[in-house]
Amino acid sequence: MRAGSLLVLALPVSLGQLFKSSRNVYELDAQRVEAEVAESRSPWVMMYYADWCPHCHHYAPIFERIAGQISPLHQGAVSFGAVNCPDFTAFCTKIQIQGYPTVRTYHFTGDVGASLAGKTPDRHIVHSEAQFTAWITRNAPVVESNASSEQTKVQEPSVSNSSQELRGQNTRGALKAKEAEELQKPWAHEVLPDAMAAMRLADAEVALLYSLRQGTFLKGSNGELKGDSLVELLRWLDYLARTFPGGRKQLRQLAEATHQAVSMSSAGNALSAEAFGKLLDNRGLDRIPAEAGHKPEAYWRKCRSYTCSLWTLFHVLSVSEAKSAAPETAGQDLLARMRGFVAFFFGCDYCRDHFLEAFDSCKLGRCKLSAEDVSGAALWIWQMHNDVTLRVAAENFRPIPTLWPPEEDCPECWDKKSPSGFNSAAVLAHLSAEYGSAEWHEDTPWLSGAWTAHGAVPLALVSALMLAFGAFKLMSRSSHEPAARGKDTKGS
Ligand SMILES: Cc1cc2nc3c(=O)[nH]c(=O)nc-3n(C[C@H](O)[C@H](O)[C@H](O)COP(=O)(O)OP(=O)(O)OC[C@H]3O[C@@H](n4cnc5c(N)ncnc54)[C@H](O)[C@@H]3O)c2cc1C
Repeated sequence: MRAGSLLVLALPVSLGQLFKSSRNVYELDAQRVEAEVAESRSPWVMMYYADWCPHCHHYAPIFERIAGQISPLHQGAVSFGAVNCPDFTAFCTKIQIQGYPTVRTYHFTGDVGASLAGKTPDRHIVHSEAQFTAWITRNAPVVESNASSEQTKVQEPSVSNSSQELRGQNTRGALKAKEAEELQKPWAHEVLPDAMAAMRLADAEVALLYSLRQGTFLKGSNGELKGDSLVELLRWLDYLARTFPGGRKQLRQLAEATHQAVSMSSAGNALSAEAFGKLLDNRGLDRIPAEAGHKPEAYWRKCRSYTCSLWTLFHVLSVSEAKSAAPETAGQDLLARMRGFVAFFFGCDYCRDHFLEAFDSCKLGRCKLSAEDVSGAALWIWQMHNDVTLRVAAENFRPIPTLWPPEEDCPECWDKKSPSGFNSAAVLAHLSAEYGSAEWHEDTPWLSGAWTAHGAVPLALVSALMLAFGAFKLMSRSSHEPAARGKDTKGS
C-alpha cells in the first residue's frame, strides 16, 4: 500500500471532494452525470460517496488505482467518475443511493437502455482491486474506434502540473493546513467541563440538522419515505422532541409538522422528500442555524467530522436528563432509537453493517440490560464507541488507541483491578459531565428561538461569550485553588 493511501486511512476528518485532484476519476456534479454519463455510449464506473464517510476515504485510493489502470487516459476504454452525494442530495435520493460508498456501472455489456441509475455490481467484487479490475475488463464492451471522440465530450479535470503529484501528497498538504487551522481554533485548547458540555451539545445539534437533511431519505424510493423507514423517522423525531436537550421547541414543531405532512399525503402513509425539505428550511436548533444541515463544517466546536458529531449526539441523548415517555422502558427506547437511526439514516455502509451486527448479536452484554436501565444503555454506547475505535485502528494498522476517557482527564475512571479496566460509576459521572448539564432540563431561554440562515452572527457571539465565561472561570479558579477537572466542577 502506498504511503498516500495509508495517510488517507488515518484521516478522521472530512476533506471535501475526494477526487478533486485526480487524473483518473472525474469529480462530477449531478447535472453532468445526467448529461454525460447516462447519455454516453461508452462504459462508465461511478462511485457515489459522502466526504464524511470513513470507508469512502478508505476505498477512494483503491478506486483511484483501478481507474488508473483502466481509464481512457491510460489507453483503456472505461471512464471513471465520482459524486459527493451530500452536495447533491436530491439527485442521489432520486437514483436511490442508499449507502456510501456505492459503486455503479453504466453501459456495460448486457446492459439494456441508458438508465440513469446504472447497475450495482457485487460489493465484494467492487472492493477487491484485482477482482474489480478483472471484472471491468471482462465486462466492458469492445470499444469502437470512434468511442474516443465521444470521450472528449467529458471535460478533462483541470489538473495543473503541480497538482499532478500523488494524491497522498495533496492530502498531506491539506492535512497540514487543516491542522494549522485547527490549532487556531480556541476550542482546540483545554476547556472547563461546562464549556465542554456546551460544545458537545452544539456538535450534537449539527449532527442532527445534517443527518435530517442528508440521511432521512437514504431508504426512500421515488423521493418518498414509506413503511418501516417512515415509522422509524416519526419515532426518532418524537424521541428527539422529548429527549434531546437542545432546541426542543423546534424539534417538537418539526415532529408535529412531519406527522401532519404524512397524514396529508395522498394515501396518508408517505412523506415526500420535497415536503420534508420544506419543513427543514430555516429550521435551526438552539445553538445552530439551519445552514449547518447543508454545510456543517463551519459549526462544529469539538468535532471535525460528521461521524464524531453523530457519536456526540448519541452520548448527549444517553445522559439527557429528560427521559423517555415511559421510564420503565427508557434504556430500551434509547438503544432502539439509536439502532433505528443507524439502520435507516446512517449512510456509511460498513459502519452500519458492523454496528447492526454488534447490536443484534447482543455484543457487550446489551441483551442483559433491563428495559428501564438508561445508565446501562449510556455505558453500553460508551463501550461500543470504544470498541469501534479499537476496531478501526486495528483495521487501519494503527497503534492501539487510548480509550476514552483518557486517564489524565478522568483518573478515577480507570480501575486496573476491574476486569474491564474501568470504574463504571466514575465513567458514567464523567460521561454525564462531558455530554450533559443539569441546566438543559428545560428549553434554554437565553439561547432558544428559531434560528435562521443568518444565525451565524449570534452563534459567534454565543461562542465568544461561552469561551470568555470559561476563561474567566478558569482565571478566577486558578487564582484561588489548583485547577480542578472532571465531575467536581460540573454545573458550578
Ligand atoms: C455508529 C457508528 C459506527 C461507526 N463504524 C465505523 C466503522 O466501522 N469504520 C470506521 O472507519 N469508522 C466508523 N465510524 C466512525 C468512527 O467511529 C469515528 O467517528 C471516526 O473515525 C472519527 O474519529 P474521531 O477520532 O474523530 O473520534 P470519534 O471516535 O468520532 O469520537 C468523537 C469524540 O467522542 C469522544 N469519545 C471517544 N470515544 C468515546 C467514548 N467511548 N465515549 C464517549 N466519548 C468518546 C472523543 O473525545 C472524540 O472527540 C462509526 C461511527 C459511528 C457513529
